[in-house]
Amino acid sequence: MQHYHYIFTGSGLSALMTVYEMILSKNFDDKTILLIDENPKKVNDRTWCFWDEKDTFENIVSKKWDVALFADKNFKRNLEINPYQYKMIRGLDFYNLVFETISNHKNIHFINQKVIDFEELGNHCVVKTESHSYTCNKIFNSIYNPNLVKNQDKYPLLQQHFIGWFIKSKEEVFDKNKATFMDFSVEQKGNTRFMYVLPTSSTEALLEYTLFSADLLSKEEYEEEIQKYIKELGITNYEILEKEQGNIPMTCFPFWEKNSKNIIHIGSAGGWTKASTGYTFKNTIKKSKLLVAFLTQHTDFRKFHKTDKFWFYDLLFIDVLYRNNELGSKVFSSLFKKGKPALIFKFLDEETSLWEDLQVIWKCPKLPFIKVLITRIFK
Ligand SMILES: Cc1cc2nc3c(=O)[nH]c(=O)nc-3n(C[C@H](O)[C@H](O)[C@H](O)COP(=O)(O)OP(=O)(O)OC[C@H]3O[C@@H](n4cnc5c(N)ncnc54)[C@H](O)[C@@H]3O)c2cc1C
Repeated sequence: MQHYHYIFTGSGLSALMTVYEMILSKNFDDKTILLIDENPKKVNDRTWCFWDEKDTFENIVSKKWDVALFADKNFKRNLEINPYQYKMIRGLDFYNLVFETISNHKNIHFINQKVIDFEELGNHCVVKTESHSYTCNKIFNSIYNPNLVKNQDKYPLLQQHFIGWFIKSKEEVFDKNKATFMDFSVEQKGNTRFMYVLPTSSTEALLEYTLFSADLLSKEEYEEEIQKYIKELGITNYEILEKEQGNIPMTCFPFWEKNSKNIIHIGSAGGWTKASTGYTFKNTIKKSKLLVAFLTQHTDFRKFHKTDKFWFYDLLFIDVLYRNNELGSKVFSSLFKKGKPALIFKFLDEETSLWEDLQVIWKCPKLPFIKVLITRIFK
């Protein structure tokens, strides 16, 4: 059986980012690394957006916006997000960048196989795919196991689910300098529903009909809403260039408690998705850097995770939206109507002081949060 120092089960964002950080650190050149994925990662299967004040992956950023629109039924606000910019990276550009870098490192291999099992056996681990078995010292797993969250009720699960159409219209209706961050003016139907629009030119944009809720819709429902929105924008003629869909777990379930000495769960499978927003890209950059630094000094993965105040804020937020899903529009509108956009983004990046937290939190409707706080204390 072929043995490696490290095996990555699943080779999407979090695995590739971690390997990329390993390469940059130069501390792992003597380690054999195997990346396994059932998908060859050769198509653009997703688009990542994030707010950023640095030059993160600048060479593969495909579009940037300085202004983001927030709207609901009653108001519209152009958010001046300085010092941040809202940025877009195509999944395929990121995969190509990392695989090209990997190709110069003979110690790192990728295989296109489906993982069917992995486990820790004392001092080493075994990974089984449909056709082979491999042993290793440590496993980095990013294959998400939905049953972990389903089989418990302490930490509710919402999903950020959406279908997106990248369209080209005949009419020049889009402002290419402004992304629509959240447009809650769409009918809420008892949920948290909004439109997300990322224009790349005056005639081209990715439009995503998005919900933060417990249950998925039928494909037709998302697509009818996208068509309705396109019509309301005044577009009469358009073609669909690309489609994407997603279903991102929003939960405070402590995935890290499943880590063992030699197996760590990373990415969404490891709780790296920000529960209250579904954003994962930036968290993955931060966590992969921390993980790579951790590996140079520690050997026990159970010591990697640290729970902080932001986990608790997210816990309450998810409790509120799980109980009263129709409140989403009100909560986000209360934040963005008068709040400082840069401070809100800093808060969502989990980089604010307690004083700054209070400035953001204070804007939210109080009663629903107090109710869930009391329930959590006495549960
Ligand atoms: C369409 C879409 C758009 C998104 N947009 C954003 C965004 O704008 N901003 C943001 O911050 N986040 C976004 N996200 C959320 C998050 O960033 C992504 O889901 C991200 O890819 C998560 O990284 P990951 O490593 O956890 O999982 P993935 O990138 O999904 O990697 C997991 C890998 O495991 C592989 N795999 C699964 N099962 C097996 C198996 N049995 N054997 C072998 N391989 C397996 C998969 O093929 C996949 O490559 C988006 C998600 C989706 C789906």
